[in-house]
Amino acid sequence: GYPLILGVKALTYLTSMFNNYGLPKPDLIVTDTNIAPLWGNNLGQQLSIPVLSIPDGESQKTLEAVSKIYDQFLLHDLDRSSLILAVGGGVVGDIAGFAAATYMRGMRWVNIPTTLLSMIDASIGGKVGVDLPQGKNMIGAFHPPEMVLADPETLDTLPAHEYNAGLAEIIKHGIIADAELFSLVNISSLPLSRELLQKALEVKINIVQRDPFEHTERAKLNLGHTIGHGIEAASNYKLRHGEAIAIGLYAEALLAEHIGIADPGLADKVEKKLTSLSLPTKCPGLSPLRIRQLMATDKKKRSGNLYFALPTSIGTVEYDVTVEEDILIKTIERVIN
Ligand code: NAD
Repeated sequence: GYPLILGVKALTYLTSMFNNYGLPKPDLIVTDTNIAPLWGNNLGQQLSIPVLSIPDGESQKTLEAVSKIYDQFLLHDLDRSSLILAVGGGVVGDIAGFAAATYMRGMRWVNIPTTLLSMIDASIGGKVGVDLPQGKNMIGAFHPPEMVLADPETLDTLPAHEYNAGLAEIIKHGIIADAELFSLVNISSLPLSRELLQKALEVKINIVQRDPFEHTERAKLNLGHTIGHGIEAASNYKLRHGEAIAIGLYAEALLAEHIGIADPGLADKVEKKLTSLSLPTKCPGLSPLRIRQLMATDKKKRSGNLYFALPTSIGTVEYDVTVEEDILIKTIERVIN
């Protein structure tokens, strides 16, 4: 139950947006050192509020980094009635949202996503959190923002490899529930139109509206992530999140074929699509056993079992699927070699 605004030049009208939705003037912006000079500092000036820039990257998603953010909240005298803005990609959103969820038992926040990945995925659904050395997103909360305000113009400054990484999550949404989206996203449709962005958003919005706390079908959104998170962590985060998810999508399509729940040829289709968008489908050099070990801390684990969301065709996914260990290892080996 919060507004999600996808509007070109939306950031030019921040104050009226806040007024229209009954939000007070924000107190502080959290952004990263790349985004501050491009977008964050301007917004800080527009609103006359301080800007806190954290170093960029997945390595910042730690409890130590959150602790430094709390120090700044205290320094600026923020309290439970304060409102902060997270301006950035999925990392800034996850970490600032987690700080907002936990500071004084929760304060309000607004998410302003500036990467393709955060615009169509990470900013929706209220999951916030940080990593532990043992695994990704191990500490977290459900703490929805008051509003998500996405301005596609912010993508103009996004480096091409970051833009491509975001395409992986869009392809994931296509595989989960929208075969047309899967076929429409191709090299000639880049950069994506507002209509395609909206189509990609709708897949996630529809699912999280039906199952906000992942009791049932929200698990479908984990497609590609069970193996993908293991790969991301095994690469010591040298692979971008979206790149690891691309490999995870291919691996999990192979897995679905191996266990006989997917249309034959599905993994090929997924691989061709990802490759045509310059996304990786293999990660030579990583250890399959290390990937498997890192998957063991997956949050989707229950009573020692891993539960997968696996594709059955382009547009349909089964969740809560268990697989035999030897088939899983053989599948991981296929994306290593
Ligand atoms: P990111 O936040 O690390 O951003 C990628 C890079 O782009 C960073 O270097 C950043 O400084 C830079 N950047 C961001 N916006 C820019 C812009 N407009 N112009 C120039 N540079 C810009 O990466 P991401 O791909 O956005 O997010 C990945 C993170 O999102 C992962 O930690 C993942 O776990 C998380 N995630 C969370 C959810 C969720 O539901 N909470 C869902 C999916 C992913």
